[in-house]
Amino acid sequence: MDTLAPATLTATATPLVEVRKVRQVYDKGTSGSLVVLDQVDLSLKPGEVIGLLGRSGSGKSTLLRAIAGLLRPSEGEVFFQGRPVDGPTDGVSVVFQSFALFPWLTVLQNVEVGLEAQGVNAAERRKRALAAIDLIGLDGFESAYPKELSGGMRQRVGLARALVVHPKVLLMDEPFSALDVLTAETLRTDLLDLWCEGRMPIESILIVTHNIEEAVLMCDRILIFGSNPGHVIAEIRVDLPQPRNRLDPAFRVLVE
Ligand code: ADP
Ligand code: MG
Repeated sequence: MDTLAPATLTATATPLVEVRKVRQVYDKGTSGSLVVLDQVDLSLKPGEVIGLLGRSGSGKSTLLRAIAGLLRPSEGEVFFQGRPVDGPTDGVSVVFQSFALFPWLTVLQNVEVGLEAQGVNAAERRKRALAAIDLIGLDGFESAYPKELSGGMRQRVGLARALVVHPKVLLMDEPFSALDVLTAETLRTDLLDLWCEGRMPIESILIVTHNIEEAVLMCDRILIFGSNPGHVIAEIRVDLPQPRNRLDPAFRVLVE
């Protein structure tokens, strides 16, 4: 497992994810059909954090699902490491706004679930799950059930479950929007910390948000998503001399 520090990003790196001319049309039964995405192009390179910013209903979650292999777009293609995506892959993990935890499983079991499809043996599953739980700051809560945890801690479980498979790409769909402002800020800072210090074993992040401050704080590039149908209408680059500058309190003051 290689950890690519963000600072090693080069403009010429081969994209991990490429979205080409994606179009998604939903069948709305008697009310006809709805074109949600049209002509969507996007590429995510190693070391990059990209933000997808757009209003509710513009198709952001649909695009994320297509990248994760959870939805086959009506037209166009998604590639992961140059290969067409035709289903979920271990290389790409998703963190959902609603956490999507199993209420009847403990923290440890919820995280281990991420590994079950991989045929990893029980001892190895436990070892990796404990490492992910520790990384994300949930040490000591292994036996707790989701209902015993705060929203912020539940989302940490969601993150641990996403990271336990050692994905190359982490997709996050409004990961902080179900949390109160302070909890969201703490989790965001902890994530940035792990990322900037190269302790999070992933290569690139795509984060969907409708919070411009969050996008500026976290991302190298922000894609502005227009609606009806969803497509990229603008791109903002956030050039920081050092990725670590994101952790500088002064930078935070700037965007709040
Ligand atoms: P966003 O994440 O930007 O809010 P979504 O991708 O969730 O946007 O949804 C875009 C549009 O597509 C919305 O109008 C939504 O109601 C519709 N939609 C999303 N998923 C489905 C689906 N499975 N079937 C039909 N319509 C859907
Ligand atoms: Mg959404």
